[in-house]
This record gives sequence, structure tokens and C-alpha cells, in this order.
Amino acid sequence: MLKNEKTFTTAADFMLHGGDYNPDQWLDHPEILQEDLKLMKLSNSNTFSLGIFAWSTLEPQEGDYHFEWLDKIIDNIHSIGGRVILATPSGARPSWMSQKYPEVLRVDGARVKQLHGGRHNHCFTSPVYREKTAQMNRLLAERYGKHPALLMWHISNEYGGECHCERCQDAFRNWLRDKYKENLKALNDSWWGPFWSHTFSDWSQIESPSPIGENMVHGLNLDWKRFVTDQTISFFENEVTAIRELTPEIPITTNFMADTHDLIPFQSLDYSKFAKHLDVISWDAYPAWHNDWETTANLAMKVGFINDLYRSLKQQPFLLMESTPSAVNWHKINKAKRPGMHLLSSMQMVAHGSDSILYFQWRKSRGSSEKFHGAVVDHDNSVDNRVFKEVSTVGETLEKLSQVVGTNRPADVAILYDWESNWALNHAQGYGTETKCYPQTLQEHYRTFWEQDIPVDVITKEQEFSRYKLLIVPMLYLASEETIARLKQFTAEGGTLVMTYISGIVNEHDLTYLGGWHQDLQAVFGINPVETDTLYPGDRNSVQYSNRSYELTDYATVIETHSAAVDGIYEADFYAGSPAMTKNSYGKGRAYYIGARLEEQFNRDFYQELITDLSLQSVLPIEHGPGVSVQVRQDGDVNYAFVMNFTEQEQTVSIHVVAKDLMTGEELSGELLLAKYEVRILAVK
Ligand SMILES: [Zn+2]
Repeated sequence: MLKNEKTFTTAADFMLHGGDYNPDQWLDHPEILQEDLKLMKLSNSNTFSLGIFAWSTLEPQEGDYHFEWLDKIIDNIHSIGGRVILATPSGARPSWMSQKYPEVLRVDGARVKQLHGGRHNHCFTSPVYREKTAQMNRLLAERYGKHPALLMWHISNEYGGECHCERCQDAFRNWLRDKYKENLKALNDSWWGPFWSHTFSDWSQIESPSPIGENMVHGLNLDWKRFVTDQTISFFENEVTAIRELTPEIPITTNFMADTHDLIPFQSLDYSKFAKHLDVISWDAYPAWHNDWETTANLAMKVGFINDLYRSLKQQPFLLMESTPSAVNWHKINKAKRPGMHLLSSMQMVAHGSDSILYFQWRKSRGSSEKFHGAVVDHDNSVDNRVFKEVSTVGETLEKLSQVVGTNRPADVAILYDWESNWALNHAQGYGTETKCYPQTLQEHYRTFWEQDIPVDVITKEQEFSRYKLLIVPMLYLASEETIARLKQFTAEGGTLVMTYISGIVNEHDLTYLGGWHQDLQAVFGINPVETDTLYPGDRNSVQYSNRSYELTDYATVIETHSAAVDGIYEADFYAGSPAMTKNSYGKGRAYYIGARLEEQFNRDFYQELITDLSLQSVLPIEHGPGVSVQVRQDGDVNYAFVMNFTEQEQTVSIHVVAKDLMTGEELSGELLLAKYEVRILAVK
């Protein structure tokens, strides 16, 4: 991003530090609320998200509103110079509402109506729930919209899940009627109706997918997932109507998530659609640092991937809305962050584009589900405990990074991520049930660039392709005619395109392409992939590429070549000696096809050739060994480099420029020693 084009996504010119503050749990303890104001300053916190689960305190009985406590909290935060991210409370309902209006309760896929309890379990269609949230949000906007402490709106919390009640069924049928323009035959055609006699003769016969009913009509499954995203967004839009009207200048966000254990993007909602409705992307990151199944660097790579996806959704800085200063309470093993990891993991978020480090939650609960979830202030209320001190250090560090706020990360490389394709692939009854691993495969293709500090945008299919030199499209199982045309154009105009096995198999209705691979893909790649072999975990095969043998697992595509040159061949089985990898010139560009899932080292070696050919490079000449990551945010001529050691050993880094350490002010060049988990933040002109 060029100078003077900074996007102040939060309307703030400082790094946000703080998090979810839930004083509604402590209203009977005024001494604690008073103490908090002192601890906020001591922890170098400046921003607090309020009211996220406060509905039963804001409206303990229907129509009986109590804002006076919130007035006081916001005023108190303002009095110490703090800012507020005000949430709408729809993430959890008060019990009176479920009791009086049972329609707000969710019905699961097996058609079982859920009882009151938990959170994030509402019917998004319920007119009552929509009316109640709209009413509450209007009151919040009227009361606090002009408060000088208000920084932004946090709409609901971690939207997710689906409801299968009768109202949602009706809404789904209406959504389908609209999509298929009242043409039931078009729906039957798209869903391949005659198979197993699944043709519908009336719209009213259609039901959402269910474990006790239909779940094998792939077109239905896919349309249902799309509907769930649209219905969630529709609920969100209902929530923000009054807020947009009354406070048009205040940015709006909602907190996105990731799926753990593997740390992959959240799967249930299509965030590429949701992003268009938000002013700012924010997300909740809870990597299981120090786990026993991967290296710290491997986990850091996956965090980097998600950051680059969520940043690329709007091509602007994002916010870390929730994180933990130490352990969480919901991993299988809730391990404490080791000394130094909190600063390192926080700076990694900033390095990839976050303008905040915020926590869930700021003060640890005394009781119930999250009483052991890590927090800034622990039950001991002490400023001397390790976690509190490490949080204060992060705050201190962020105070010195205000010049980084609003800066972005330009990239020449893009990886295409598609929620719909992942849904369709997961529903597909074929290939291996456990080995599809679409998000993980993308992370594998991201790895080399992360290891070499080459910036990557992880983009979605509607985004502009032409700005990139290299576009990597692994396992794009579902590719519409439109997407295929855009990939073709990208290559014709000089782009380098990489595609893999299991790509371009079905169209947007989840219907397979007929007559071999799509003709445009055949033309671009100069091949026709004719058969995909799925391997058992114990099966062995390999590919010969550049005079080296690389092990393959899970998938091997048998390829018929037309105009393409063969770059790699299979070494065993009935396709031994046949092409596994191809390269084709198309228009002004080139198209590579990788037919098999190959070992980690293959990706390194293959992409190294493209890195050299396309003169891709890290932003700064900083050399280091494995496990160190240097991520850069740019502001015109100034580069802000985050040099991070994600290993348990000391590492030497060679800096071939003159850099200024933003924390100490010292000038650095040449060799720099990084301690275990150490991070240095440098400015380079
Ligand atoms: Zn419902």
C-alpha cells in the first residue's frame, strides 16, 4: 500500500490492546470494578469490548431495561482514557425470552428442539428474536452512539450453527424459489432429481438435510450451506439496521473464528460473503501453542495462513478480537503459554496485519464454564503474576507501534481459498473420507512462501487475480464456468497458474463436468486428467521430478497430455512412467498441473523454481534458518519487519540492511541473535 493510503479500519490511530470486559458478572463487587480501572492502566490496556453476553443484565425482564450500570462502566473507562467496542448481546438470550417465546429456540438437524441454555443457539429466522435484537440494538445505538469512548460496534459474537425449525424450512424454500426463479424443474435438474427418485413435485416437499432424512443429495446439501450463510447475514443485517442509521461513522465488525484442533479457517459460514457486510474483519485466534503433535513453527505457519486469508478478505488490516494471554479452557489439554510466547504470538498477528491484540476475557470469571479460561486479571487479582506481566509487556510494545497501524502487506503471490468448494468436496462421496483435507492442503502450498518470508494473499474467487504474478489453486473441486473463465484469462494475460489433483470436477450445482475435464482447463493446462487414484495410508508410490524421487500419498491423477510438457512422472503402479506433473504455455502465461499429493519437500523444490523464475522475493534481505519468520508491513518507503523465532533454540539472523529496532531505538545490521521465542520489530527505510 502506498503512503497516505492507510486504512484506519478502527478509526483509531493506535494499536488496540485490551479485550472482552464483562463487568456484568461483577456488579455486586463494586470494589473489584474500581480495582479494574487501576489494573487496566497497569496492564497497558486501552480498549474494552463490553456487553457481549449482557442481555440478562440489560433487560432482566421483558421491557425492563437497565443501562445505568453500563453508563457508569463506559464513563469510567472513558475517564481513564480508554475506548469501548460495544457489542450487541444477541450471542446469548435471557431465559425469560426462551420461556415466553419458544420460537427463538433452535431445532437441530434431527428436528429436536433445543432447550434454553448455552449460547449461540438461536433461530436466525424467528421474527420475535429479530424484533428483540433490533429493539435492543436501537436502544444501545441511541444511548451510546455519540459517546466519545465508542470506537466501534461488535455485532453479536461468533455467529455460527444452523436451525432446522419450520420457520427456517419455509425461509429455505423461499430462498430456493428465489434462486431457481420459481422453476422447480430447474431445481430438480440442478440436484440431479431422478437419482433414487429424488424428484420433487412441489416446493413444500423440500426439507433441509437431516441425519434422519435426506443428506445425500449433494446439490441440496450445498444450497443449504449457502442458505445458512445468507440467513445468518440476513439476521446480522437486521441487527445493524438501527446502528447504521444512527451511527454511520462508527465501524462495524463481528468476530470470525477458526476451527481448531488443526487450526484451519472456520468451515461453517462462507466468510467471503460475510466480509462484504462488515467494515472491519476481526477474528478470534486460539492456537494450541506447545502441543505435542507439531513444531511451534508449523503451528505458526498455519496461523499465518489464516491471518493472510482474513486480511485478504478486505485487503486491509484486521483486528485480533479474542485471544488468550495464556491457556484456554476448551482445548483437550489446556497448556499455559511458555514465557515469551505471548509477546511472540501477539506480534505475529500484528505482523500479518492485525491492528489490535485483544483478549477473551479481560478479568477471569469466578464461576461457570469459563472460570479457568486465561485472562489478563486472574483470580489472584495480582499484578505480579507472570501472565499479567507478559500482557503489560505486550501493551507496552503496542504503544510503540502506532506508526504501523493501517499499513498493509502487498503480495505477488495468491492462493485461492473457496468455502463452497470445500463444502462440496466434503459432501462428495468419493475419494478418501479422511484424506480430502482441503484447508490443510492449501496450508501445505503456503508453507514454502512462509518459510521464505515471501508475502502471500489468500484470496477468494471473486477477487481480482490480475494483480498477482503467481496464482495457486489447489484442489478447487468446485469451479464454476465463471471461475474457470477467470483462471483462463489470468493465464492468457501472462499469469502463472498452479492447479492440483481434484480440481475443476464439478460446477456450481455440484454436477460433474461431462466429456472429460472442462475444455477451457484442458486448453490452459494442455492436458486431460483422466483418472484419480485414491491410496490407502499404507500404499506407497512416488514421483520423479528434477532427478529426485518424491513420495506421494492419498491422491494420484492419471494424466493424458496434449500440448503440455511433462515435468514429473509416476514411479510405480499401473501408471508408472506416465505424467504426474505438467507445464503448459498458454497465451502470455504458464500453467502447471500437479497430479499427486506430494511430500513437503516437493512443494519446497517445486515452488523454489517458480520463485526464481518469477523473481519473487522476501520484502527485506534478512537471512535465517528454519523456524524463523520475518513478516513485513509496508508504509510507502518504510518497512516494518517482525523478526520472530518460532523455535525452542537460539537462532542467528543476518540482516543485510540497516534497521532500527522500534523498541530500543538502536540501529542494527549484520548478525542478530534471537533467543528462544524472541521477536524483534525493526523499521527499515
Ligand atoms: Zn429456525
